[in-house]
This record gives sequence, structure tokens and C-alpha cells, in this order.
Amino acid sequence: MSFDAEAKMQFLFALRSKGVTDKAVLNAMESIDRGRFIQGYFTDRAYDDMPLPIACGQTISQPSVVGLMTQALKIGPRDKVLEVGTGSGYQAAILSQLARRVYTVDRHRRLVHAARQVFEALELTNITAFTADGSFGLPDQAPFDRIIVTAAAEDPPGPLLAQLKIGGIMVVPVGQSDAVQSLIRVTRTDSGYEYHEMRPVRFVPLVEGLGKD
Ligand code: SAH
Repeated sequence: MSFDAEAKMQFLFALRSKGVTDKAVLNAMESIDRGRFIQGYFTDRAYDDMPLPIACGQTISQPSVVGLMTQALKIGPRDKVLEVGTGSGYQAAILSQLARRVYTVDRHRRLVHAARQVFEALELTNITAFTADGSFGLPDQAPFDRIIVTAAAEDPPGPLLAQLKIGGIMVVPVGQSDAVQSLIRVTRTDSGYEYHEMRPVRFVPLVEGLGKD
């Protein structure tokens, strides 16, 4: 299957019907072919609105969830964005269309290598991918205008809150890994943090330390 006009139309229709209405986000999702981030058996399902398995027992998120999280970040063209949980690289690729610079980190080296190859092939030169435990953020690159966490934590990790600029926004799924989690939008103000609960979601857990591969 290819991301032809027909596939794009259906893909965008599904996104809109799930509440992804931001024009810039829809344009970004139209310009990045999700099929490039999926290998093997499931390539046929690349344009369906469902999460799919990737290597290392992880998943590429559902497109409408990618769209809603990206939309909630309200990214500006000058923004420096951190993503925790590179996975396939799809979410980072969408962010790269909207932000000045994207840093993405995953605990699995193998996923980071595969994602870098796709970024290179698509000439997405404003993304830098690292293998690291992202719950500590990226102190050398901090602070960030926007932070997106694509794995569920029991609470928003303290180092990530600390690496968010004042006026910055973070989107993070919060809750136990085996239960339904809540997608939370955190805004850093002059005096602290404001929390807004967006919707129930289901993500793989944020895990401590590096993966075996
Ligand atoms: N955003 C991805 C989907 C992410 S799935 C995409 O667009 O495809 C969640 C990812 O979070 C997995 O790849 C997992 O390895 C990663 N992860 C889990 N805990 C982590 C941690 N502490 N630091 C960095 N990455 C982590």
C-alpha cells in the first residue's frame, strides 16, 4: 500500500473525525508517510487509525493520538521540542514539521538506529535522536519549549518538569501501565505548574534504565 491521494484522504478524514482539527498538524501528518516507520507484516495497516507493533516489543502510537498530542502542544516555528520515547520515529517526524529543532530519546538503541535511518532517508535534518533513559530528560539541551512523553509514567517525571521553560507545555500519559491512563497537559507558569486532564489513553510504560538492545 502507498500513501497515495486516496489513502491520504481517508487518513485525514479519520484524524478529523477524532478531533484533530489544527491545520498545521493535519498538514504535517499529510506530508509524512506513516508507512515508512512500519516494517514487515503490518505495513498494510499503516494508514489505519490504530497502534501497531514495532521492534523491541514496543508500539507506534495510533495516528489520532499522535495528532491530538501534537495539537495540544501548540508548537511554534521557533520551538525546541523534546520527545521521550522515539519508538518508530513517527511522532518525532511529525514534530519536525512544526518545530525548529526536535530532540528525541529512547532506551532501546535498536529503535534509535532504525529511526535515524528513516529521518535521514526523509531528509528530516532538524531531528537529533539519542539512546538514553529519557526520564532524566536531556540536561545538556535543556530547557525546552515543549516536551512530549510517549510512554506512561506514574507521575510526570521531576527532571522533565524542571527542563520545561516558563510558558512551556508538556504532554504526558500518566497512570499505571496495566490500567487506562490519563493524558495530561502541563503548563509551566511563573509560579508553578498547571495540570489539565485531556482524555483516557493507553501507552506502554516508561521504564527505567537502558534496554538490552
Ligand atoms: N513515539 C513513538 C511510540 C513510542 S512507544 C512513535 O511515534 O513510534 C514508547 C517508547 O518509549 C518505546 O519505544 C520505549 O522503548 C520508550 N521508552 C520507555 N521508557 C523509556 C525511558 N525511560 N526513556 C526513553 N524511552 C523510553
